[in-house]
Amino acid sequence: MGADCLFCKIINRELPADIVFEDDELVAFNDISPQAPTHMLIIPKKHIATVNDLTDAEIDLPGKLILRAKAIASEKGIAETGYRLIMNCNEQGGQTVFHVHLHLLGGRQLTHLG
Ligand code: 5GP
Ligand code: ZN
Repeated sequence: MGADCLFCKIINRELPADIVFEDDELVAFNDISPQAPTHMLIIPKKHIATVNDLTDAEIDLPGKLILRAKAIASEKGIAETGYRLIMNCNEQGGQTVFHVHLHLLGGRQLTHLG
């Protein structure tokens, strides 16, 4: 666990969250400040601070995050209308929580990035 990591605390149930999926490796929960009707975060249980910290040991992890997001999008009924998957990295990428997470956004027309 990362010291004082918000998302590690959610994984460990030290902080409440609206968790909609959990398995041995991943947890998914609703974003506390949703930017779209569906805004979920899919995270690894392993504490990895940023995309920069991913190594060959995590070669399968991004695929698992994306496949889980795909399944949740389907469950939410937004697979066909469409959705956006985002991973922010460090300050200029807009990262504010330093535990790798994949945003799943959908349920409305999204506008351009940036
Ligand atoms: P980032 O900006 O790092 O890519 O995304 C962090 C996301 O975590 C933000 O969308 C923010 O709203 C969300 N967030 C921050 N604190 C909490 C929290 O305590 N609970 C939940 N569910 N989401 C949080
Ligand atoms: Zn963490």
